[in-house]
Amino acid sequence: MAKGIIRLKDKGYGSDHLLRALKDYTCIKCEKDIRKYELYARYSVNKYKEPFQPVCKDCAWWLKT
Ligand SMILES: [Zn+2]
Repeated sequence: MAKGIIRLKDKGYGSDHLLRALKDYTCIKCEKDIRKYELYARYSVNKYKEPFQPVCKDCAWWLKT
């Protein structure tokens, strides 16, 4: 497993990891900036059809269970 990746619970869809951002992203939920080196998660409605989208840590609902 690559450095800077934190394994969370098994939820699938790429949402079970926090990733260290290698560039700036915009959260698809709240449109907040995710800056380089911050942790973010990736979300896909359908992992086979939709590309993974960046989600900030605050919006990662699976962290709040
Ligand atoms: Zn967000």
